[in-house]
Amino acid sequence: MKDVEQKLQYEAKNLLEQGKVDYIIGFETGSLKFTTTPLITKDKNDVDRLVINSFIVNNLSNFLTEIQGRVGIVAKGCDSRSIVSLIQDNKVAREDVVILGVPCPGIIDLNKAEKLIGKDRDELEDISREGDKVIITADGNTSKFPIAEVLFDNCLGCELPTPQEYDILLGEPASPVIDRTASQARIAQLKGIPPQPRWEFWSNELSRCIRCYACRNVCPACFCQRCFVEETEPQWLMPVPRWQDNLMFQVIRNIHVAGRCTDCGECERACPVNIPLRSLTKEMYDIVGELFHFKAGMDKEALPLMTHYEQEEAEDFIR
Ligand code: SF4
Ligand code: SF4
Ligand code: SF4
Repeated sequence: MKDVEQKLQYEAKNLLEQGKVDYIIGFETGSLKFTTTPLITKDKNDVDRLVINSFIVNNLSNFLTEIQGRVGIVAKGCDSRSIVSLIQDNKVAREDVVILGVPCPGIIDLNKAEKLIGKDRDELEDISREGDKVIITADGNTSKFPIAEVLFDNCLGCELPTPQEYDILLGEPASPVIDRTASQARIAQLKGIPPQPRWEFWSNELSRCIRCYACRNVCPACFCQRCFVEETEPQWLMPVPRWQDNLMFQVIRNIHVAGRCTDCGECERACPVNIPLRSLTKEMYDIVGELFHFKAGMDKEALPLMTHYEQEEAEDFIR
């Protein structure tokens, strides 16, 4: 990925020098091992800090609604879909964005790497990728595993690894390792259990929610200026994180992002108490696909799913 990184630094510098963008949004090395953090800069001297590697987790499109001016933004396939979805919703103007597309071979889930080796991430010395293998070094010993064992579940089911909407593509189209069965395994397992124990599962999971709103705040599809959870007239939810209110929060959030969610996986990754939120968001994504034949962010000319209707709609009341 070094060549992609070098091309990014070169293109980002050009864009800033030529005044084509006011800001660059990308990734720089994080303060913790095996992490990156968003870098937002208007200084061309900062572009050498931009990195592309197997740990560029964030969906940076989330920043687009906050920043004024023209922006050059680094986008993996799923992020580019979120940008297109924001354009469809008139939240972002296409001419204000220069998409620096990253062909994405999949992102490494550190939780899976830790489990494979049986050590905390701080105890791992190195994690590197060689084609369809991952090499993890700990205590001076190296172990090799199929890359599919450490990729995020959503990456294993990725539908658009290489952005189709971009201004500059930073490398050759990617072919990530796809394992749709593994990608859906947890969801399939949950769907396989009867309603009562499934209800208990979710009441237990959601009783751990501390209502930090990280899942909402990292989500580019959650862009309401005032979220319903902050309304006081009427008050939709109690501010205290009771599991019933936490459940309502997730149910309503999932309805709000229906047709906008691109399965980027950020909500689940950001949850500090590891609630399996993708089991809800991906299920909604699949329902939207099945019922409406709609996939978010695939076509910037398409009308947003939830804000238009068609003559053939089944319900008479909207004709
Ligand atoms: S879902 Fe696809 S584009 Fe997004 S990070 Fe995973 S492999 Fe990359
Ligand atoms: S990120 Fe997790 S803990 Fe925080 S509000 Fe969302 S579900 Fe609850
Ligand atoms: S709901 Fe989750 S997976 Fe879907 S777009 Fe938002 S952060 Fe990404």
